[in-house]
Amino acid sequence: MADKVNRFREKCRLVHDLAEVQQLLDWDQQVVMPRKGAEQRGLQQAALAGVVHSKLTDPEMGELIADLKAAGGQDEDLKADLREAERAWSRAVKIPPELVAERAKACAMAQVAWEEAKEADDFARFRPHLERVLELTRETAAAIGTPNPYDALLEDYEPGMSEEALKAVFSQLREGLIPLLDRIQGAANKPAQEVLKRHFPAQAQERFGLQVVADMGFDGAAGRLDRSAHPFTSGTLADVRITTRYDEHFLNMALFGMIHEAGHALYEQGLDPKRFRDPSGQACSLGIHESQSRLWENLIGRSRPFWACYYPKLQSAFPGVLDDVDVETFYRSVNVCEPSLIRVEADEVTYNLHIILRFELESALLHRQLEAADLPEAWRAKMKAFLGIEPPTDREGVLQDIHWSAGLIGYFPTYALGNLFGAQFMETMRRDVPDLDRRLEAGELRVVKRWLNEYIHVHGRRYLAPELCEKVTGRPLSVQPALSYLQTKYGEIYGF
Ligand code: ZN
Repeated sequence: MADKVNRFREKCRLVHDLAEVQQLLDWDQQVVMPRKGAEQRGLQQAALAGVVHSKLTDPEMGELIADLKAAGGQDEDLKADLREAERAWSRAVKIPPELVAERAKACAMAQVAWEEAKEADDFARFRPHLERVLELTRETAAAIGTPNPYDALLEDYEPGMSEEALKAVFSQLREGLIPLLDRIQGAANKPAQEVLKRHFPAQAQERFGLQVVADMGFDGAAGRLDRSAHPFTSGTLADVRITTRYDEHFLNMALFGMIHEAGHALYEQGLDPKRFRDPSGQACSLGIHESQSRLWENLIGRSRPFWACYYPKLQSAFPGVLDDVDVETFYRSVNVCEPSLIRVEADEVTYNLHIILRFELESALLHRQLEAADLPEAWRAKMKAFLGIEPPTDREGVLQDIHWSAGLIGYFPTYALGNLFGAQFMETMRRDVPDLDRRLEAGELRVVKRWLNEYIHVHGRRYLAPELCEKVTGRPLSVQPALSYLQTKYGEIYGF
């Protein structure tokens, strides 16, 4: 049996190593590859994807999983590895390779069509491609064979979660957020963002951001920072790369973007070095990943104790720019809450509503309760209902996100789950570290990193996300921590 365990682990680790090479090729494409290299890179990626698929569907892998499971008596780690490997293997063998290839091709074409449609503000140009992607996505879900097709898609990003559970959580979240947003909008004393739109040279932004992420505990010898059009984090453990972009007339983009990506990076750097190549040694789920980035970005990075420490440093990083702005004005300016059209620019409160809107629409599309042709209208109606505003163009509405064109259906909910998990973890952290605010005021950001390392990162995927949440916080996922955090914080800022 020990031989079989070794053989099983060897095969799993090979898949992991290949996946890291895929990520590296993708990083290279987004950060340094010359523009003309795209076609060759596509060929390289396709070749590698073929190799990974053959390893994933290797019949010997199926036999090893079955034999080891039948033998029983495994330790907790091996059990979790078998559970994770089995899910990946059975998904891979259930989806016919022709369907995988056809869907990949349809998505590649849909992404080009989406870019053109967005540019021209012409949804009709994208519609047939979206219909094709949806059709092939339904076929994929049917091949996987869960009773609810949405669950089959969700499993790829958030195993252990179901559409039914999401519906329950999101309806509670929406019911809490809409009245909160009403009170914020009705407040007399509203903060403004104008001080963030002064001139902040990119080089100084980079220097300051690097100082913050180093203080958070990002290991610069096991990672790096670069620029890219769309910020992202790539890699694991000892080679974790983050990217950002700079707007010299808006401080938020790079600063909070870097803190966000560093939150993702600390998770990857914090995995168990002995287990990070094993199926259950990797990061738990996209929702848990996003809980790390959002906890750092919002619950720490947009908090009063954080700025009590960092505001004087920020002022000296940009000599003369913020001399007339006190820390309170600055704190309020980074916490402006205002309904807006674009998801990626949304604040902590309205962001969740953007996600719930997308979840409801993609679910309706997948279940054929909504036709693609009626999507722009449905989008405008929901924007009006949730946020009280309507996009004047589809470019600022239904065409703004790349996800659906890339076949990423079931992915959006993980962003809001990240906010919920993050707030619930933070509540527990505050109980464990009663003087947390005082320590943040003293610049001890490592306290947060150490807590996350110990309770979240090191477990990897040993538990599914709902179970991890319960283990760490003592109760199942709830909207309450996020709602009470937002109500307290924004009530204080907006004066109600
Ligand atoms: Zn993120």
